[in-house]
Amino acid sequence: MIIRDLHVKHQTIPLCAPFKTALRTATEIDSIEVEITLENGIKGKGAAAPTYVITGDSLQGIEAALNGPIKAALIGQDITHFQSVLSKIQACCIGNTSAKAAADIALHDAYSKYLGVPLYAWLGDKQPLLTCMTIGVDAPGKMAEAAKKSVQDGFRILKVKVGSTPELDIKRIESIRAVIPDHVKLRLDANQGWSPKLAVQLINEMERKEFGIELVEQPVPADDWEGLKFVTERVNVPIMADESLFSAKDALKLATGRYVDLLNIKLMKCGGINEAWKIASIAETNGIACMIGSMMEPCLSVGAAAHFAAAHPNVKYFDLDAPLWLSQDLDVLQYNGEEVCLSDLPGIGCVTVSAKK
Ligand SMILES: [Mg+2]
Repeated sequence: MIIRDLHVKHQTIPLCAPFKTALRTATEIDSIEVEITLENGIKGKGAAAPTYVITGDSLQGIEAALNGPIKAALIGQDITHFQSVLSKIQACCIGNTSAKAAADIALHDAYSKYLGVPLYAWLGDKQPLLTCMTIGVDAPGKMAEAAKKSVQDGFRILKVKVGSTPELDIKRIESIRAVIPDHVKLRLDANQGWSPKLAVQLINEMERKEFGIELVEQPVPADDWEGLKFVTERVNVPIMADESLFSAKDALKLATGRYVDLLNIKLMKCGGINEAWKIASIAETNGIACMIGSMMEPCLSVGAAAHFAAAHPNVKYFDLDAPLWLSQDLDVLQYNGEEVCLSDLPGIGCVTVSAKK
């Protein structure tokens, strides 16, 4: 079943509210959608979003990689040699993980449509997906307000962004804790905003104050792996790598070297579902659980991440709220409070006319 065509399209999607982290403030996202067409007319869709400060990938770079080396590597290939075709994407250029992720997602969509099953079913399981809701970094009072509203909306886990103006971070969590019930769990994400020593000091203080912190994501700069280990060894709260983890090779080193307790997988960092599966399996072998996360991304690529997360037994934490931030109709995913509902249509769940096998 030959891949005949590949098309790329760009769309700007405004956010419902500005999204603030220690690294950036976003008010809209660029979504790059890629569509591949098989010889029988089946279409597979994938998507990517540029995040200069994390992956280094730009809108123009993603488009250029998809229209250039990735398109050249895919056209004329037989999708039933699925693993070989995926390898061609990874080998056709270095870097460009977001463009590779978009192409990998489109291939997974097309091939599971060709097989006539939802992607999760082909990957092999459908565990329930309960997402956290993100609270952007802001003044403590504003964050408390947002937290209260999210709990009212049915979220029992909040992912709180900290690390910008660290002197306010204890106050931020204190203000949030004061207005939400005890059973609501807090995940913290410092987005590289702390030094190793400050991270240990703040996390230990939060433990003493019994803030109920489930985990802390990326306390220190991405390339400071020794700093990550320093923090991991000195606090009881589990430490998770996010920006420090891109590839399966990173996962292997982080896991066997005991740099962290947990890993956060994002398709835009690792280059797609195939590499994400490897990361989750490497972590599983080393007794380290994973979270599935996403950038501020379109519903389609978050949907692909959700299918992967539902199927891999070592994905135990779910951070899939990005589509709820977009002022765009949801397509491949639906949300029932904190519950993320996958489509049972073939593939990822895009509604497109599919030809017969
Ligand atoms: Mg993070």
